[in-house]
Amino acid sequence: MEQARQMLQHHFGYDTFRQGQAQIIEQTLRGQSSLCVMPTGGGKSICYQIPALMLEGLTIVISPLISLMQDQVEALRTANIPAAYINSTLTAQEVDETMQLARAGYLKLLYIAPERLESTTFLQALSYLSVPLLAVDEAHCISQWGHDFRPSYRSIHKLFTLWPQKPTVLALTATATPTVCDDIRQLLAIDEQATVMTGFSRENLALSVLIGENKERYVKNYVQQNKQEVGIIYAATRKAVDAIYDVLSRSGEAVAKYHAGLSESLRMAEQERFLKDEARIMVATNAFGMGIDKSNVRFVLHYQMPRNMESYYQEAGRAGRDGLPSACILLYASGDVQTQRFLIEQSQDEARITQELAKLQTMVDYCHTEGCLQNAILAYFGEVEEEPCGRCSNCIDGRAVTDVTEDAQKVLACVVRMGQKFGKTMVAQVLIGSKNQKIAEFGFARLSTYGILKGQYASKDVSNFIEFLIAEGLLAVKHGTFPTIYVSAEGKEVLLGNRQVMRKEAVTVKKLVDNDPLFEHLRVLRKEIADEEKVPPFVVFSDKTLRDLCDKRPTVL
Ligand code: ADP
Ligand code: MG
Repeated sequence: MEQARQMLQHHFGYDTFRQGQAQIIEQTLRGQSSLCVMPTGGGKSICYQIPALMLEGLTIVISPLISLMQDQVEALRTANIPAAYINSTLTAQEVDETMQLARAGYLKLLYIAPERLESTTFLQALSYLSVPLLAVDEAHCISQWGHDFRPSYRSIHKLFTLWPQKPTVLALTATATPTVCDDIRQLLAIDEQATVMTGFSRENLALSVLIGENKERYVKNYVQQNKQEVGIIYAATRKAVDAIYDVLSRSGEAVAKYHAGLSESLRMAEQERFLKDEARIMVATNAFGMGIDKSNVRFVLHYQMPRNMESYYQEAGRAGRDGLPSACILLYASGDVQTQRFLIEQSQDEARITQELAKLQTMVDYCHTEGCLQNAILAYFGEVEEEPCGRCSNCIDGRAVTDVTEDAQKVLACVVRMGQKFGKTMVAQVLIGSKNQKIAEFGFARLSTYGILKGQYASKDVSNFIEFLIAEGLLAVKHGTFPTIYVSAEGKEVLLGNRQVMRKEAVTVKKLVDNDPLFEHLRVLRKEIADEEKVPPFVVFSDKTLRDLCDKRPTVL
């Protein structure tokens, strides 16, 4: 390891390894295949570049993006490390020349696009080389559960038997969900214990989630107030990207845009403008950014919530790669959940839809967390939580914490009374006493929880409140064609009066008077909970239709 440290100094000019780097390098040098999970900007490249320098032979790096390879090879050459790439930008002759250099032992690292592995001729050419290490960058591309599945990544296993000795494998990714990690390990034959996951905490990032902002105004103001700063604005759809782009360019900002609806050449030109600081702001869909190493991004603003935490943290993590304080702002609106749901439901694969919807729910929960946002992310990625960061919008938030137990009880009681088989929107409509025809059809207007929050909350605030209760684990979501909500065991404790619910409140809570009907509702409900003989209210009624139930019990709640 002493030698590895000298390499770090000599070639890269850094004195110490970052968390996790030394362990990965040590395992790799020992011939142990490993999975390295570090957030974007965490320093994954060095984990294979240093072993490549120290090992006899040529390290092959599988990398999904041409621009990514080019940047890395350029950087390596600047650091006096002989490296090259092979991808579709090279002519046949250039490929030959590169292979000759490799065969002659002039190269230490060779980056290849995964599609190359589909060619038998190319594999044969590779088989003449001596390859001690195979680095698989952006390894989540191998998993169909990852957010960037690339079928050609599945060809990587062909390299396992190409040489007399199987190379050591080092898989690297910023995606740390258990499913994806399992998939990567299984497909690349990596032991579970050989996983090194670290560094998800980014001390220079201040995370914010802002609910209920006027987004357009917010973005315009933010961009104006931070005149000198370079930033990325992510939106969920092409249409939204175009709209934000128009608003900002009309107000005279130097903006670029990027989405899959633009031609390849235009996308490249826009990216260049941003990378060269000719455009200060990039407005883009999630198509933009993989492998972009632009160090001076001071803010990443999400105009719409992304579909999962991995995407969010990967995109947000593009801020502050230089280690300087940077902002990651997420503008949340409950309508955006519908947009994402719609996008997810475009898939043909039922199992995948269910899984993606569950991940979307986790993202929504994150937006409604009351605790430290940085810690919520660490917890999600399975890392040990630290002291509250003191930088995120929740940590610096001056809003008072309010006791919302009674409002929570109203919502939970209503969910129970509706049979625990309806979605958020329907529950919200009943709570505010909507005259919607469906509600009349189901007989919900006869429930006494009908309209129980009327006049107290606006309809959108009820939705937000329900989402908050889900985030707090008091309501749970059952996914299916229509996601439905039900009262969790913790939620039951709230109904029983054994547990308080506290919320950082934007809306004012109406205090109940002694004769509020809620108390009677709760009395009846608690009696039922205590009395096991009666219809258990905490199961989803499957054998009776709800109308049935309402007919039989018209006066209770
Ligand atoms: P990743 O692939 O994980 O997104 P990179 O490998 O591109 O991240 O590294 C991000 C930045 O961190 C690069 O500018 C790199 O030079 C820098 N870096 C990597 N390791 C160290 C280290 N030990 N000390 C300081 N900077 C480092
Ligand atoms: Mg990388």
